[in-house]
Amino acid sequence: MLEIKDLHVHYGGIHALRGISLNIEEGKIISLVGANGAGKSTTLKAIMSLIQKTSGSVINDGKDITNEKTKNIVKGGVILTPEGRRVFPDLTVDENIALGAYTRKDKVEIAKDRNWVFELFPRLEERKWQAAGTLSGGEQQMLAVARSLMGRPKLLMMDEPSLGLAPLIVKSIFSIIKEINKAGVNVLLIEQNAKAALEISDYGYVMETGVITISGTGKELLGNDQVRKAYLGE
Ligand code: ATP
Repeated sequence: MLEIKDLHVHYGGIHALRGISLNIEEGKIISLVGANGAGKSTTLKAIMSLIQKTSGSVINDGKDITNEKTKNIVKGGVILTPEGRRVFPDLTVDENIALGAYTRKDKVEIAKDRNWVFELFPRLEERKWQAAGTLSGGEQQMLAVARSLMGRPKLLMMDEPSLGLAPLIVKSIFSIIKEINKAGVNVLLIEQNAKAALEISDYGYVMETGVITISGTGKELLGNDQVRKAYLGE
């Protein structure tokens, strides 16, 4: 559904992306792994038109969105859950969730999706009147994902959803990502936790200093010697 071709991005004199090409096929979980500073977040920001591209193209469902405005990209069903827990701290959990549907007008469907995200994250339902800023880090992370889902994404891009979370919560985040995908949402996942990400991924790309060096099915990458040494700590 989303195709990126030969994408280049510069930050001033820094050539951060040096010709990235990747494909996100319908129904799949795709992950992008790599060390700090490899350009993973930059790739997602460039897709969303949050930063300027030097060259290359982004095609979503056959439509060229390379130079599209961010809000139109969101309307087209591509949603980014950014790194860090960007919730509105003074608003309640429920208000944060409601804000995720701000571009929509289909009240009945919005109510259905609200029930769905509360099913996915029962912890958030228990805390729906609580100010988001007082949630634990893991709960805020869940809220950021829940809010993104309220935009009814066709493609959900997640930047480091497991960052800084306790192992038990990391496990539940990954199983929820699988559930979200089963519900029909394509997922592009950025993770430093390469093992957990590749285990749930249909396909993965390894990025190093602005280029994709290795790609393959999740299984292939988990079995690749280079990947094992560099990213799986083996
Ligand atoms: P991490 O896992 O640490 O978040 P990443 O793979 O997501 O890393 P990016 O954040 O995409 O990496 O950064 C890629 C490169 O671009 C890095 O060298 C970074 O320092 C540089 N960079 C990112 N944002 C900017 C910016 N606004 N101005 C200048 N350089 C930047």
